[in-house]
Amino acid sequence: MDGDLDQILITPQAISQRLDALALEMSAVLPGENLVLMPVLTGGLVFAADLMRRLPNRLTVACVNASSYAGARTHSSGNVRLTGLETARAAVRGKHVLLVDDILDTGLTLSALQGALAASGALSIRTCVLLRKDRPQASAFPVDFCAFDIPDAFVVGYGLDFNGLYRNLPCIATLTPQAIASGMADTKEQEKPA
Ligand code: 5GP
Repeated sequence: MDGDLDQILITPQAISQRLDALALEMSAVLPGENLVLMPVLTGGLVFAADLMRRLPNRLTVACVNASSYAGARTHSSGNVRLTGLETARAAVRGKHVLLVDDILDTGLTLSALQGALAASGALSIRTCVLLRKDRPQASAFPVDFCAFDIPDAFVVGYGLDFNGLYRNLPCIATLTPQAIASGMADTKEQEKPA
């Protein structure tokens, strides 16, 4: 798997150090009671797991599933599919919500989630992302907490995938053109009618 990586943008050590600092900053601002941490699956899984263990706040956890990205396209399609919303809505009633997502690209996912939860009786909805891309749509979307700003490139690792792979990498990295091409070819092969 390491041979598929082009550039390592953020090392495991840098992630760990930044999460220590971010959790301190967040715990001072987040409410000490009635807090629900909501990982946005699947990409936000690793980040949320590491972040929540650093937060001393009393909190519960409820997940929601969002998908909008296929392969290594540089822009989301604009179609965000949310699943598990009924359970999520019930979990946030009368609570302060912290949405925890992997990456802010167009902002469509967080915007769809905020919209979907708005009328659920949440006391407040805050957002936290591991990565924010250096592109106008991402910079224009207000998030409450962000761990790292990165260049506008397709990245994998620490929860982020390409065709379902690389989520278990401990670092954040770009892929070689060969790894992207071979993943694209696999997708086309799977899409062929039987
Ligand atoms: P949005 O465009 O809604 O801000 O981001 C949608 C989702 O697209 C993210 O939660 C993430 O799952 C996926 N995404 C956006 N940029 C990247 C990227 O560079 N790498 C990977 N693996 N996924 C991305």
